[in-house]
Amino acid sequence: MSRADHQPQIGPVERPWREIGEYNRVCGRTVGIVLALEDSTTPLVVQFDDPDEKPVVCAPEQGGAPVPRPVQRFEGKAAVNIVLEACQKAQMTEVFVVADQKIAEAVSQAVYSTKHVNRGSDYQVLSIDKRVLLDQTRKAANFKMFDVPFGVLELARGLSNTVPAGYDNVVIVSADNVRVTADHIYEVCLDAFEHPEVEAVSSWIEKLRRPPYVFSREFLEGLEERGFTSPGTNGRDRDVPRIAVLDHVFGEEKLAANPVSKWIPEAFLSGCSMTALEAVQVAKQALAHPDETKPLDGPDKMLVDIAKDVLVSRVAYNAQDDIAWADEFARRCKLDFPLLNDQEHAGKLVYMDTAATSQRLGTALQAQRDFDEHGNANVYRGAYELSAHSTSEFGEARAKLERFIGASEDEIVFTANTTGSINLVAQAWGEWSIGEGDCIVVSVADHHSAMLPFVMLAQRKGAQVHYVPYGSDGRVDLEAYRASLEKRPKLVCIAHVGNVFGIEAPVKEMAAAAHEVGARVLVDAAQSFAHTRIDVRDLGADWVAFSAHKAYGPMGIGALWISPDAFGEMDPLGGGGGTVSHVGIGSYYLRPNVQQYEMGTPPVSQAVGWAAAIDYIESLGMDAISRHDAVLMRYLIEGLHRIDGVDIMGDHSAADGETGLVSFTLRSLVPASLATFAGKLGVAMRSGGHCALPLHASMGLIGTGRLSFGVYTTLDDIDAALVTIEACRYVYEM
Ligand code: PLP
Repeated sequence: MSRADHQPQIGPVERPWREIGEYNRVCGRTVGIVLALEDSTTPLVVQFDDPDEKPVVCAPEQGGAPVPRPVQRFEGKAAVNIVLEACQKAQMTEVFVVADQKIAEAVSQAVYSTKHVNRGSDYQVLSIDKRVLLDQTRKAANFKMFDVPFGVLELARGLSNTVPAGYDNVVIVSADNVRVTADHIYEVCLDAFEHPEVEAVSSWIEKLRRPPYVFSREFLEGLEERGFTSPGTNGRDRDVPRIAVLDHVFGEEKLAANPVSKWIPEAFLSGCSMTALEAVQVAKQALAHPDETKPLDGPDKMLVDIAKDVLVSRVAYNAQDDIAWADEFARRCKLDFPLLNDQEHAGKLVYMDTAATSQRLGTALQAQRDFDEHGNANVYRGAYELSAHSTSEFGEARAKLERFIGASEDEIVFTANTTGSINLVAQAWGEWSIGEGDCIVVSVADHHSAMLPFVMLAQRKGAQVHYVPYGSDGRVDLEAYRASLEKRPKLVCIAHVGNVFGIEAPVKEMAAAAHEVGARVLVDAAQSFAHTRIDVRDLGADWVAFSAHKAYGPMGIGALWISPDAFGEMDPLGGGGGTVSHVGIGSYYLRPNVQQYEMGTPPVSQAVGWAAAIDYIESLGMDAISRHDAVLMRYLIEGLHRIDGVDIMGDHSAADGETGLVSFTLRSLVPASLATFAGKLGVAMRSGGHCALPLHASMGLIGTGRLSFGVYTTLDDIDAALVTIEACRYVYEM
């Protein structure tokens, strides 16, 4: 295979992918492909002239850009898939993606779904849950993803730390403006394998006058030896600086002389000997006793310096009394949570993912354990004492929960979680009440758990789902909501507090308006249950759904409150032990209360644990919890505003309605990168779509980072989170 045989030509060509792959295998050369896609507003575009993958090589015009032939265009994910297929066919051993947020995640998705990680396997598309995608991608040994929000310099620095060892060639398919064709990759492969010398590459660049570029190590070394700074140094080639940068990357001396370029995230993290929380403590010491401070260097110094800045800003915060109170409150609470005090985590972990699940309360764990160890028996109809005791504990837990939310006796069904509760409504009510052409109103910000049961119900019944939009202030668009009610929906689903914006919705007003048009109202209280007082009657809903595990209680138990009116319109879809008062041959009598929905053995010890968690919340007082949330949230928001590049979702300037949750983006960094970085510094935060993909899509985002706290969240925790985000920004922008 010679270059002459594969000169760009007009018309379809057979691409010898197999030969390239073979060459790659036999010669043992490892090739990295970098898709450097710098412009998120322009989709990645791949062009083919026909769907059978007969490519048209772009015809290089005299001295100009390639002219695309009549083509079939593939954009976005489809384009990414094609690029990756090309990589796979060429048996590229590694794929490095250097891209901004959108593209990087799209590529990672494609990498996973094309099973590129199993190179040599036949091309196949797997359907994969997006939530596990990034994790899977990170786990794949031969895949790395970087963000390059700030251009090619970062690309160069990223490469410097990851690529040099063990790579003979690095192929860079850069999509400046953004067009990467499979033929480009093909060309790139040929160049990398066949023609690493200056002339071939420079003439190729000269022809294309645009990316992609190909630089072999020998090529770059050759440039140095010959005193050649770059091909096309005639002053008119705007790409010259890029080449110089890459030259710099592979020139090890230059690299050594510029240690900053090594400070990319992985290097930073591996050089860091402390967590963010520890850095905050060291910074406190250093500020209090500057003379006694041990000198630090490298990443530790940087982290502590950032922590000092954050602490100095803390002093300037104008609500010192409130802050001191909230901090003291949280410090006391923290002692009640075993995981936060164990040897592994105390003083190191900052748990900022309470919206996903809270940490477990010691007394709740103990109550559950006591039940399991000393009180275990199945409920109902047991004549012996243990069973009577178990039945009464279970009943007491239900009664406690009912009191806690202002419900009357026997209005609460225990379920597995909020999702289970909402599905119960969709089935036990929706199945009988929704028909063809009916309308169900949800919001675009709803959690998938509150959306999908109704989307599926609507699909089964031929009904319509109407999505109410949210404003960028994080509040439901009330005007659009009222307009949606003109469709006379049968059901309206409202998130009391959304899990992306974390801002309380005006449920009472919305429920009243929905009732006026005869709709039933379901309130998803998963995020509000532990943060704000819930009075089901005051809310005016027909159903309220929530889980224990977000409120310091156990996993595996949730509840649905059912209003008497709504109960009258429901009928179970399933039956079993516990749901009936009498069964004959071919007949049955359902229990006359909500327990007709509790099929089989209920989660008794979980209910007991949950009751202990409710006792705890009541002992703290919901007013104190809300005050802690509001005070620390204001402090956190102010801190986030100080970090350059942070864009906070929603307007958090209002004094109330805060529930200790904020989502944000950091420039165009992939949220998963931020969360991974944070995790390595001991800050547990969430990233991604938070089961609210329609909301993210409506805002043109594929994900956000999210910090959420509980009663145990102290001022130091928040400072450590701020330090982490600032450090991440700094490291990625260096
Ligand atoms: N609704 C909202 C607003 C949520 O945040 C969540 C979980 O994060 C759910 C529903 C689902 O809760 P669960 O996983 O406990 O069923």
